[in-house]
Amino acid sequence: MSGSPEQKIALRVAALSKRYGDQLAVDGISLHVERGDFFGFLGPNGAGKTTTINAIVGLAEIDGGSIEVFGHDVVRDWRAARRLVGLAPQEYNFDRYLSIRDVLIFQAGYYGLKPREVRARADELLQRFGLASKANQTFVKLSGGMKRRLSLARALIHQPQLLILDEPTAGVDVELRIELWELLQRLNAEGTTIILTTHYLEEAQALCRNLAIIEGGKIVAMDATAGLLRLHGRTSLTVTLDRAAATLPPDLAARGARVEGEPRMLRFDSLPASAIGGVLQRIAALGYAVESVETAQANLQDVFLELVGR
Ligand code: ATP
Repeated sequence: MSGSPEQKIALRVAALSKRYGDQLAVDGISLHVERGDFFGFLGPNGAGKTTTINAIVGLAEIDGGSIEVFGHDVVRDWRAARRLVGLAPQEYNFDRYLSIRDVLIFQAGYYGLKPREVRARADELLQRFGLASKANQTFVKLSGGMKRRLSLARALIHQPQLLILDEPTAGVDVELRIELWELLQRLNAEGTTIILTTHYLEEAQALCRNLAIIEGGKIVAMDATAGLLRLHGRTSLTVTLDRAAATLPPDLAARGARVEGEPRMLRFDSLPASAIGGVLQRIAALGYAVESVETAQANLQDVFLELVGR
């Protein structure tokens, strides 16, 4: 089964809500992810990310709204929808008595695939993810990094077109994280649409073309990563003058200028990038020569903190 090629939207979530008892974990969210995208789904702990993912893959019942995967409604047309999605969940839920090769083969059974159809694919995935030498070992004998890779391989056994990764790099070392990034970028380049949740914002900034940020069950921002950085991102500026700064004129003080420590250094913590030229001209007009200028660009962490207000 495949999402028909003319179906350009991999995921459409419309007015989705989900409650647990009195608590509205997901509060009427809408979003869409285009085919081929690398999409980041970000938010603080308890924001509703995993609940949304569980609703997409059929692990949580929907209380309101709808979800379509490549045009297939995940409730009415669940079989087709589920066949198109692979999930690498946050928590490991492997059978600890199976060899990892059988973990992959059994997983394929959930999608109606027979062992003889998937043996070659299982071996190919074990090879690709550097697990071939462990094929007959059980999950418990793998290192942390190998477990992460197995989780990815299992999510891919039925050749899904949409891969959802719930914190795939939590707790892994820098080397493995970079290796996983490369694997994911390659999969995406080969055409797999990817949705990623992560608390590592530098990871989201490096990998994701588009982002949605959820907080308290509501979407607080959704845009291209570059657009979010432009819109909310600010730049800090440090200007070294040829002599100690005198009392600051009110217009520069209003821009947040301050002299701290070194009296020749004028600092601005947060300027819109478009204001920097004007600030430097103003300093020159006050009769200072500028010896050096240092800027630091806002990153996704700054944007995230501004949007979720923490
Ligand atoms: P994290 O980043 O910590 O994984 P998250 O954004 O994935 O968080 P969810 O796991 O979706 O957040 O949780 C959203 C809210 O729903 C939280 O308040 C959580 O306590 C609650 N919740 C999640 N699963 C259940 C459940 N099975 N029963 C009751 N409440 C739940």
